[in-house]
Amino acid sequence: MNAPNAFQMPPPQALEAIAAIVGPKGVISGEDTKPFLTEWRDRWPGHASMIVAPSTTQEIANIVKICAAHKIAITPQGGNTGLVGGQIPFDAEILISLKRMRKIQAISPHDGSMTLEAGVTLQEAQDAARQAGYLFPLSIGSEGSCQIGGAISTNAGGVNVLRYGNMRAMVLGLEVVTPDGEIWNGLKSLRKDNTGYDLKQLFIGGEGTLGIITRAVLKIFPYPENITTALIGVASPQDAIDLLTKAQKATGGLATSFELMSRQCMDLVVKNIPGINDPMDKAHPWYVLMEFSSSGSQNLRPSVEDMLAKALEANLIINAVIADSDQQAQDLWRIRHSISEANKAEGRGVRHDVSVPTSAIPAFLKEADAAIEQIAPEARVVAFGHIGDGNIHYNLAPSPALDDTPKNNLDDKRETIENRVYDIITRLGGSISAEHGVGRHKRDAIAMRKDPIELSMMRAVKTALDPNGIMNPGKML
Ligand code: FAD
Repeated sequence: MNAPNAFQMPPPQALEAIAAIVGPKGVISGEDTKPFLTEWRDRWPGHASMIVAPSTTQEIANIVKICAAHKIAITPQGGNTGLVGGQIPFDAEILISLKRMRKIQAISPHDGSMTLEAGVTLQEAQDAARQAGYLFPLSIGSEGSCQIGGAISTNAGGVNVLRYGNMRAMVLGLEVVTPDGEIWNGLKSLRKDNTGYDLKQLFIGGEGTLGIITRAVLKIFPYPENITTALIGVASPQDAIDLLTKAQKATGGLATSFELMSRQCMDLVVKNIPGINDPMDKAHPWYVLMEFSSSGSQNLRPSVEDMLAKALEANLIINAVIADSDQQAQDLWRIRHSISEANKAEGRGVRHDVSVPTSAIPAFLKEADAAIEQIAPEARVVAFGHIGDGNIHYNLAPSPALDDTPKNNLDDKRETIENRVYDIITRLGGSISAEHGVGRHKRDAIAMRKDPIELSMMRAVKTALDPNGIMNPGKML
């Protein structure tokens, strides 16, 4: 896939001026450029005319001003963990990495907020909040490497959306360098502000196509003192959804996470990740990993135990393991967090990050499985996800008998498979990108499937804010 706007290579004097802005520490060259141009799945190799890592918002603004004057394309990059190729430049772009902007600037208990630079990793943000006695609840498998700016730009979701919402719900304010190199200081910590369009929302999930996020004010929450974590064996996705409804009722809506995993996920994790064993003595067709949390003195464990006992009696669940210690809870979470890596070890397959209304998950899985049986009977379905949010990662691993050569890795069937799955999703009222975004991967797919009026409003916003189209061209739109 090419960048639709063919940008010329930047003139040498522009590159020299940019190098002078960031100084020797901020220019990345030679072998050091490789990690910035290769992404997690090795699917979209990149090339850039220059890679720089500025250390202040002002430096970024000065670089963008030069790019605007010379119509040089820019790709912002955070932790480079994005899964749709949005952070990888095609060719002539300047890649601006936020990795040197790592300061946590303030934590305000009274405002329930923390202010930080965009290059802080998600884990650093979580740790800083924790040290102050608070929770920053966004939690995703890549949290050790992904950055706050990247997580905002992809509107990241993860395992706690059920309770706290996705990144969109956690951002109070932003500082952004606009495509003409101006600095918009929208670093407010207000919970209410009805003075017109909520412009920060354009940059949240904007995938770097409208500007560069340099700082953010994020919500923090009381740290939950009481956590109950359980792994449940169930016969079907429908039983899992029924269990979710009962669990929310029994705990007054205090489920933080509700994750579905197929048997195939458990098998791959036990096979490919050292040190993980199946915690149950018998295999089950599906598993739910669920967590409930509360602050203060309320202990949810008795309500959860009671709810599970009733579910067992009613044959809604087959088995349950409740963690008795933090370590046991972490061991259960390790199974869930290792699925992507275990899946990757099986060779390159086809992956879908899709959502439907939660009630439609069983119908989606049934129809998608039937379609795959027709198109690629050799594929193994690795289905898991945040079903409390209707989000399924419907992945296909190649048959174990095949090796990972271009001929044998499902690549030749990828387009047919994706189109069939996206057709089913569209018919069920879902989204073809639940939380990973559009990037390069789904740019053409959304052009075919999104409401034309919605697409034309998106294009109008892009043209209004970035008339020269220099911000991350060829991504999303
Ligand atoms: P990058 O990959 O560097 O960039 C992503 C996009 O944001 C690109 O378009 C880039 O141009 C843009 N961007 C980056 N920084 C900025 C900035 N400062 N200003 C403007 N634009 C910017 N996602 C989920 O939502 N939920 C999950 O559970 C989840 N699990 C994951 C597990 C693994 C193992 C991996 C590898 C990824 C997972 N992801 C998940 C994907 C997710 O998109 C990223 O991990 C994260 O949100 C991206 O952050 P990043 O800093 O790595 O951004």
